[in-house]
Amino acid sequence: MSDLPLDGERRKPVSSLPLILEPRREARPPPCATCYGACWWNGWRVVFPVVATTTVGAVERREVPLPRAKCSCCRLGFTCYPLGFYPRRQYQLDVVAEVVAAVEIGCESTAVATTASSASPTSVRRWSAWIGALAEVKALHAVAAQVDPSTATVPTPTPRSRTAAVLDALEVLGAALVRAGVVFVERTGLGRVLGWQHRGHGDVLGLVAGPRRFSPAMAPGGRLHGR
Ligand SMILES: [Zn+2]
Repeated sequence: MSDLPLDGERRKPVSSLPLILEPRREARPPPCATCYGACWWNGWRVVFPVVATTTVGAVERREVPLPRAKCSCCRLGFTCYPLGFYPRRQYQLDVVAEVVAAVEIGCESTAVATTASSASPTSVRRWSAWIGALAEVKALHAVAAQVDPSTATVPTPTPRSRTAAVLDALEVLGAALVRAGVVFVERTGLGRVLGWQHRGHGDVLGLVAGPRRFSPAMAPGGRLHGR
């Protein structure tokens, strides 16, 4: 199965799970992130992400209608994402983090780790390489100490791989953000850290295109939203 986003117009969900999120949106869209102009609603985009459930290791494929908005000043169109939804990913970040952690830290076979999600071995290899190159472990620990000075740096003893070390550091930073009062629906360090950057700064780190590395400049005191 591809790990790239499905186009809701052309692809059907492979699961028969009946879960349908009700289309919901506020009376008005948020102001434009580029020019702060007033926006209006501009239809919906339907996607079918694979998301983590409250049971660790279990996943669901959901039908999610995402509201689209358009700026009345600069005419920029954009999608409004619900809390916990990461753009341009079919497999959402908690699913990715848990599958890769099972392989890289838990030493499970790829076949066992992907039983619930039916992700392909190729996807798992790509996720693992992507996480390993996502950030420097030292940078993640430094941001964690900045977010919460009480953070204790306890690196994974002899991590099995660079990916395992990065996953561990993402957990440290995610936990520091929680202690600092950031509210999450994500439960993994990867989901929390990238979700925090997306909601706070509008940044999306892609698997195959666009920015692919965490930037410590996004830490508190760094650049402003969308700049
Ligand atoms: Zn605008």
